Amino acid sequence: MPSTRGQHCARPPEPGPFPNTMSPARRSRPNDQAHDVIIIGAGIIGLATAQKLQEAGRKVTLIDRKGIALETSTGNAGGLAFTDLMPLATSGMWRKLPKWLMDPLGPLTIPPAYFLPILPWLVRFMRAGLPDRIDQSIRAQAAMMKVAEAEMGKLVKACKLQDRVMLDGSLELYESEAELKASAPGWRRRTDAGIPFEHVRGERLAELQPGLSPRIVAGTFTPTWQAVTEPYEFARAIGEHVLVNGAEFIEAAVASVKPDAEHALINTADGRTFKANQVVIAAGAWSKALTAPLGDHVPLETERGYNTTLPDPQFDLRRQLIFGGHGFVVSNLSTGIRVGGAVELGGLELKPNFARADAMLKKAALFMPGLNTTGGKQWMGFRPSLPDSLPVIGASSASPRVIYAFGHGHLGLTQSAGTGQLVSELLAGQIPQIVLAPFSPQRF
Ligand SMILES: Cc1cc2nc3c(=O)[nH]c(=O)nc-3n(C[C@H](O)[C@H](O)[C@H](O)COP(=O)(O)OP(=O)(O)OC[C@H]3O[C@@H](n4cnc5c(N)ncnc54)[C@H](O)[C@@H]3O)c2cc1C
Repeated sequence: MPSTRGQHCARPPEPGPFPNTMSPARRSRPNDQAHDVIIIGAGIIGLATAQKLQEAGRKVTLIDRKGIALETSTGNAGGLAFTDLMPLATSGMWRKLPKWLMDPLGPLTIPPAYFLPILPWLVRFMRAGLPDRIDQSIRAQAAMMKVAEAEMGKLVKACKLQDRVMLDGSLELYESEAELKASAPGWRRRTDAGIPFEHVRGERLAELQPGLSPRIVAGTFTPTWQAVTEPYEFARAIGEHVLVNGAEFIEAAVASVKPDAEHALINTADGRTFKANQVVIAAGAWSKALTAPLGDHVPLETERGYNTTLPDPQFDLRRQLIFGGHGFVVSNLSTGIRVGGAVELGGLELKPNFARADAMLKKAALFMPGLNTTGGKQWMGFRPSLPDSLPVIGASSASPRVIYAFGHGHLGLTQSAGTGQLVSELLAGQIPQIVLAPFSPQRF
């Protein structure tokens, strides 16, 4: 895929309802005629799944309460982080946790109002950090990432999105040699998985990214990391591709999914009912409300994340920068430079706390002197997260005609095409190309 570096233009994407005029979505069909496959959720997971199903010859209908890619998939950091294998609950994370939790604007926080509701998830999260569980998780993630990278390559080609993918790699940055040393176990795991990387200092560091503060003493360059030029535009382009190729789009909030021996009935909040041969639930952080009545009590929570997109950054950003010790990344997008990350375990209802976005921006200015931090646009999104940092991909307990695809946490964009392909294989009754037991909805 050819590499293009994001041009900085001041105009941010304009989210709004997807152009329904170009969608054959509103075509009505007799109520008793079954849709082939209905996908609930038109985020990046639902969209990539639609593309893979369409390629396999299926007729797809997307249902979303908002439009195309207007939730978490709108404003993420755009990283195609195929080299990111480590679960969040690693031993390195535990060392940092007390300091992080003491800082209300630090990389990981729990608002007091959400401490009790999140407790059961936290207990599972702690268990996921046990050494044998981490081994299992990394093995599963490595297998998933191989599929994700290969299938994303095919999707990009099929949707002609080559000029929206950057192949510049990523650069993780450290403030001390001790910090670099502490990251060694993670890099050893990547060596085991055959992932190339290079620890850099001095001139090589300055060549990979000029203009950093002398506070940054070392870095790790990962050349096979990729990034999209703008995540919303990327997702929207996949949406356009599937609609042009015959997918339908229905704007509705799904209230329930009821499979029987022959079909699945989908009831919407506004009283409509749709019938489908097969259903995919890809409703991101909101999926739990649909899966619980099907007998699957998946411990899905949300890791809320924040960012600021700077329209006129005046900084020569060469590739995605990762400030792991501070829990944020800096991305080079066609709409500007995006500074963001952080994890706030705060559920779906609490108000956003944009002081978190301000805090990351302040830190970025410290490490990237010269960065123009004025005029930024702030955003918060709901990462759909399971305690073991693996997504849910598999059949519901109620019926094999209802498949789940959600819970991708920090990696939904990265794993979207891989997930879509695996779902397509499941729906076709094929043996999936990787073992899906670690991703089973019933694994908890
Ligand atoms: C700050 C931040 C940075 C990130 N950076 C990256 C990154 O660099 N790389 C990466 O790979 N990932 C990244 N992520 C994670 C990534 O954005 C998510 O994993 C991904 O967007 C999840 O996609 P999704 O389709 O599952 O969910 P969403 O995009 O949230 O889509 C779910 C859809 O379901 C719809 N829906 C929900 N309930 C219903 C219902 N009942 N009826 C109808 N529709 C419904 C919603 O309207 C929504 O459109 C980041 C996330 C954040 C917050």
